[in-house]
Amino acid sequence: MKIEQQAEWDIERAKDTYGIKNWGNGYFDISPEGEIVIKNPKDTSSSGSSPGLSLMEVIEGLRDRDLHMPALLRIENIIDHSISRLNDSFGKIIERLGYQGSYRGVFPIKVNQQAQIVEEIAQFGKRYGYGFEVGSKPEMIAALSTLDSSSDQMLICNGYKDQEFIDLALQAVKLGTRCFVVIEALSELPIIIERSKVLGIEPLIGVRAKMTSKVGGHWNSTSGDRSVFGLSASQIIQVVDVLRDSDMLHCLQLLHCHLGSQIPNIRDIRGGVNEACRYYADLCNEGAAMKFIDLGGGLAVDYTGAHSQESQSRNYSLDEYCEDVVETIMSTLDSYGISHPTIITESGRATVAYSSILLFNILDVTRFEPVEIKTSGGEGHELLDNMRSIFDYLKPARVQECFNDAHYYRDEVRELFKRGQIGLRTRAEAENLFLKVLRGIKLLLPEMDQIPKELEGFDESLADIYYGNFSLFQSLPDSWAIDQMFPVMPVHRLNEEPDRRAVLADITCDCDGKIDRFIATDREYAPTLPVHSLKESEEYYMGVFLVGAYQETLGDLHNLFGDTNVASIRLREGGGYEFVKEIHGDTIEDVLGYVEYQPWEMKLRYRNKLEAAVNEGRIS
Ligand code: PLP
Repeated sequence: MKIEQQAEWDIERAKDTYGIKNWGNGYFDISPEGEIVIKNPKDTSSSGSSPGLSLMEVIEGLRDRDLHMPALLRIENIIDHSISRLNDSFGKIIERLGYQGSYRGVFPIKVNQQAQIVEEIAQFGKRYGYGFEVGSKPEMIAALSTLDSSSDQMLICNGYKDQEFIDLALQAVKLGTRCFVVIEALSELPIIIERSKVLGIEPLIGVRAKMTSKVGGHWNSTSGDRSVFGLSASQIIQVVDVLRDSDMLHCLQLLHCHLGSQIPNIRDIRGGVNEACRYYADLCNEGAAMKFIDLGGGLAVDYTGAHSQESQSRNYSLDEYCEDVVETIMSTLDSYGISHPTIITESGRATVAYSSILLFNILDVTRFEPVEIKTSGGEGHELLDNMRSIFDYLKPARVQECFNDAHYYRDEVRELFKRGQIGLRTRAEAENLFLKVLRGIKLLLPEMDQIPKELEGFDESLADIYYGNFSLFQSLPDSWAIDQMFPVMPVHRLNEEPDRRAVLADITCDCDGKIDRFIATDREYAPTLPVHSLKESEEYYMGVFLVGAYQETLGDLHNLFGDTNVASIRLREGGGYEFVKEIHGDTIEDVLGYVEYQPWEMKLRYRNKLEAAVNEGRIS
């Protein structure tokens, strides 16, 4: 759908249109040339802020490396910076408030288990003692093999644990890693006690409390009475009693609680921390040797940039989050005379979301516009005449009437077509006339004081469909599964005013494979995205931002589209960049193998078919 031109277009208007300043977190901007640039968060060049690295330059680099679209681009510096920011923010507030304990973050591996990400987090986190949270044996092995046991990085084991898992955790302690087994189910306790005796290793034990504080946002079922996670108050007391009877109460040192992911409202966080402190204080009173309070995840990412308490945003800054956590723990525990514990958080999405961008090109466009077709001549119909006559009374005062009439006549034509009373050409003419009327209505809308209710979804029905070279199910599963909105926009030509409005469709043949909710600065979301008309023989590139959390692992093989190409880059201070790693995406052979085909056998069978066709003289 064509956009009506407004006042002069410039880069500032481009930034406002796509809200990049709101959601970009300082990492992304638009250059005077109209290209999205990645800013080096640590750039200290003497000329002030460097211009940043153009995504178009990176796309060219990818092409030179034979890494075609779609591609996932990871930016190392952003992970590094996110870890520093989190740790520095806690550090600064701890110092300012005079908190007696320290902060030790851990990264929950489930948020992005890719080896390269885990390795980078271990490397960049080492200086802060930033460790990992794991929820399964494979995650545990990934963390153990990555962590440097000479470092002070912690390992928190959540999830269902059998003997093998617990043995791994005990061995980790023996190897020098501060590895906590967090009891999530009572059945784990006897195994921990027995295995620690058999192996002669004293465990580090945590308990996960079932939180009753309710939070807003999509993941609020993680807390509350019916939450499937954690132990109730009476179960925690059972754990304490059993440990005391086994002479192991001194091993219980950590309280774990997780209110939910992506908590948009800071007041909910405060309420949750308060409840956690009550558990912590009473565990101390019960005689446990408590030293650590682990508040789980929940630090939200402002995907929409709205800075609000809607589920895809957050109404607080990182500093406010850290301050509220530290201040609440401090004031609550001070009132009981309990010394300040080490604070652990398991921030997942806030650590990695910004570091990945999905890049793709547009393959094709469908426009809902009248086209030139040969008229039916003799096969004309009075319904077509009626439709044409609408143009005689198409004016602002009668827009609603024209809209209704156009729908009525078009639907009548469709009925007659179904009954075989008119031909395909007449129907095509009617559909064409219908689109012409809608276009006429659209031109009149700006002149109207009040737009009739029925015309409110008008934009959507005329929007173009831009077919993007990606699979939503593989690369943006949350967009499909939970209506997660990610910032999406063209990565170049932003010095040109976008002249079309579009929804995006992927290349799966699934009607759910589309994006039709976009970030808007003036309302909850926009149903269409401003884009540019495609140019003959020139690619049009788009990016989906903030996709570093959960998307890679949750993606699936719908229509057998496999993993995209992945490239990891590092921005150099003062300008320039280098490719750190490239991973070619799945081949057709790979994805067929995933679903139990034997590619060599398929080739053989196909070859036999060809040989038979040659023998029968059907092909040469
Ligand atoms: N810790 C636990 C136990 C979780 O279940 C989750 C995710 O739900 C997280 C941490 C990460 O949460 P977030 O990505 O909001 O930081």
